[in-house]
Amino acid sequence: MITQLELDNSKRSTFQECPRKFYWNYDQHLVSKRGSSALRFGSVLHRGLEEYYKIVLENGLPAIDDYSKRCLLAMKDEWDTATDEREDWWLDWRTFENCVTTFLNYVQYWEEVDKDAGIEVLQVEDKFTLALPPISGIPLNFIGRIDLVLRLHGTTHVMDHKTTSMNLNIMSNRVGRSAQTIGYLYATQVQHPEFEAHDFFINYCYSHANKSRSRDSLAQQAAGGGALFTGFKNEFLRMPEIHTERIMAEWVYMFRQTAAHIVECYKKDFFPMNFDSCEGKYGKCTYLGLCEQQCGFREANTESYTKSEWDPRR
Ligand code: SF4
Repeated sequence: MITQLELDNSKRSTFQECPRKFYWNYDQHLVSKRGSSALRFGSVLHRGLEEYYKIVLENGLPAIDDYSKRCLLAMKDEWDTATDEREDWWLDWRTFENCVTTFLNYVQYWEEVDKDAGIEVLQVEDKFTLALPPISGIPLNFIGRIDLVLRLHGTTHVMDHKTTSMNLNIMSNRVGRSAQTIGYLYATQVQHPEFEAHDFFINYCYSHANKSRSRDSLAQQAAGGGALFTGFKNEFLRMPEIHTERIMAEWVYMFRQTAAHIVECYKKDFFPMNFDSCEGKYGKCTYLGLCEQQCGFREANTESYTKSEWDPRR
């Protein structure tokens, strides 16, 4: 039985999607042995942006020679660490070189705009733990990591970096009013009222390349290697979201509802399967191989997975 519940946005949304998936991922810490090149690309770009905005926080907007070495070293370190964590990787256009290109294009795209807006960075990668009212006597913490708080044109914005290869119009429509952004704005307002943050920016970094149909590419695939890719490109977009006090109060209510369901699952020692979620928008659920085994979930053979404990504050 749990003695306290620490819940971040990923755990919350995974439980909403499927309690059994929450169990595999966040209770048993099971992850696929094959790494996601999209997640690695995102975390490496994220690491570069973190370092860049730390430099802006320390010194104001730097000249390109001042930041590039420090940022690129941080990105390389993140790439190597992420790569070592998994046995195998999907091969596609999400290479370290393309990640560095995206980072440099991002800086070039926003540098002048931010300079004109009188950029002032207030906080970078804040790891927060926010106590919420307990659930049946069990302490409840909302935890997470806020990418960036900054002032532009004298107004404070909370910002989250999102890497994507999906069309930005579709993506921004899908993400608008997300529980994550409402929760992060709420956490910032409670923990740092002095910032006077009243809105949220999603900072989209789009990257994409097309699979080549060239003879070389087909020959490489036929030989068991990955395809070749062409036409790598980037686009960038910042989308504002404004969340009222009423919306944030409703977010707290729903967050606690989910927490209460999780506590109930732990009390009953049962995490039911949500069959509607086995076929998701990005393909089959990664845990299908466990759920299809004809045995109780405690007896499932998990040897085709590896263990990695999730903590957004790491
Ligand atoms: S395969 Fe289906 S039931 Fe199993 S964890 Fe995934 S979504 Fe849930």
